[in-house]
Amino acid sequence: MARTADAIIIGAGIIGAATAFEMAKQGYQTLSIDKNPAAGYGPTSGSCAIIRVHYSTLQGTAFAYEGYFYWRDWAEYLAANDERGHAIYHDTGCLVMCTEHNHYLRNHIAHCDALEIPYELWDEQQITKRLPVYDLKSYWPPKRPDDAGFGEAGSGRVKKGVFFPTAGYVNDPQLATHNLQRAAEAHGGEFLFNQRVSEILQQGGRASGIRLEDGSEVHAPVVINIAGPASAKINRMAGVLADMTISTRPLRQEVVHVPSPAGFNFEKDGIVVSDSDIACYCRPESGNHILVGSEDPECDEREWVDDEDYDREFTEQWTTQACRYAQRVPQLGIPSRKRGVVDLYDVSDDWIPIYDRSALDGFYMAIGTSGNQFKNAPIAGKLMAALIDYCEAGNDHDRESLKFRLPRIGREIDAGFYSRKREINRESSFSVLG
Ligand SMILES: Cc1cc2nc3c(=O)[nH]c(=O)nc-3n(C[C@H](O)[C@H](O)[C@H](O)COP(=O)(O)OP(=O)(O)OC[C@H]3O[C@@H](n4cnc5c(N)ncnc54)[C@H](O)[C@@H]3O)c2cc1C
Repeated sequence: MARTADAIIIGAGIIGAATAFEMAKQGYQTLSIDKNPAAGYGPTSGSCAIIRVHYSTLQGTAFAYEGYFYWRDWAEYLAANDERGHAIYHDTGCLVMCTEHNHYLRNHIAHCDALEIPYELWDEQQITKRLPVYDLKSYWPPKRPDDAGFGEAGSGRVKKGVFFPTAGYVNDPQLATHNLQRAAEAHGGEFLFNQRVSEILQQGGRASGIRLEDGSEVHAPVVINIAGPASAKINRMAGVLADMTISTRPLRQEVVHVPSPAGFNFEKDGIVVSDSDIACYCRPESGNHILVGSEDPECDEREWVDDEDYDREFTEQWTTQACRYAQRVPQLGIPSRKRGVVDLYDVSDDWIPIYDRSALDGFYMAIGTSGNQFKNAPIAGKLMAALIDYCEAGNDHDRESLKFRLPRIGREIDAGFYSRKREINRESSFSVLG
């Protein structure tokens, strides 16, 4: 006899686990399956777990602002214990440098005004008062180390920034996912690890379950692809790629950890910073380190890879990112022993996720998270649960898309924004910034 469930969730990353939690709360008997040995051991564990509200689109901004409140009130949201304790959200705020590249944040500020998101305009003095190790010479445009002029400042300066107080980071993304697993289990959700899905079963023109690599089957009327960088492979198994206008593929990323410069404790006094002038973002990291990620400048070649066959060692890219950040923090020491993370984004064509049904009834997807959806996991889980209810009740989401109320900020969004069949969204930054 094959095992059965009401819904199978392929992938136990942060969004997979949040979807399991939300669906279990609604009474679905969920079964989450992951090929890894524990929840959040895939790309989620490599996440910088930055929580921020500035997105290029109004809907992206609303979704992220909604997401902020679940991290701020994490224990209340989970309402469940975890023997390992809860992940900690550090409410540091986020400073975004105003540059020509981001149009001096004109659109972002308009979105924040529309959504009543708090922000402060900072001048050079305020920036260096908060970050005394910062030198605000401009280095735009970002360059490769072998380009002439790499590391040489231009004549301009970064003169302004916008500080968003409703932002910060989560200290341990894997633990946050484990917290969600425990919260889902408290509502009857089940998790199966070390098991790889190798086939999507179908019957009568709809999804009917999955087959595992060991040949065993699990039957369920709902199957959800939340497989991160393996999303396109799982969609191919289900045969649902043909009607999608937006595709997804794995992109390799390196994240740098460097010690704070002498005299400044970045772990204690640092904040999240997005700095398009040097194409880096950063946040405090434990051990008085600074974590530095890339904002994907055009000069850096994008490394599209296979989700299971890519170089997990640091490369020259690590040094490039560290040197770019040292332009802003001249006293930064760059150690010879490289520390940080190598992992994958699952990138969609417009760097906006797909939260949708598929051409196959009963088969859904929460994919293409493009390096920027950790923060949205709780609300993405709620959206997926509502979308599945909507579609399983016989509504045609492709024709008349779900209108979904963001409960914390009290705003209605059109879930069709995340459609697999949308036009490429030209408002996007086409980068990790979303
Ligand atoms: C380096 C890096 C930095 C990031 N920084 C941020 C940030 O600061 N802020 C932010 O908001 N977002 C960030 N993100 C993005 C964020 O981490 C992801 O959007 C999020 O973790 C995706 O979660 P997920 O649940 O979709 O899946 P993932 O964590 O991608 O997990 C997918 C799971 O599916 C499983 N799986 C795949 N195929 C199969 C199969 N055939 N059978 C069974 N299981 C399978 C895998 O084992 C994996 O555990 C970052 C991502 C990376 C890589």
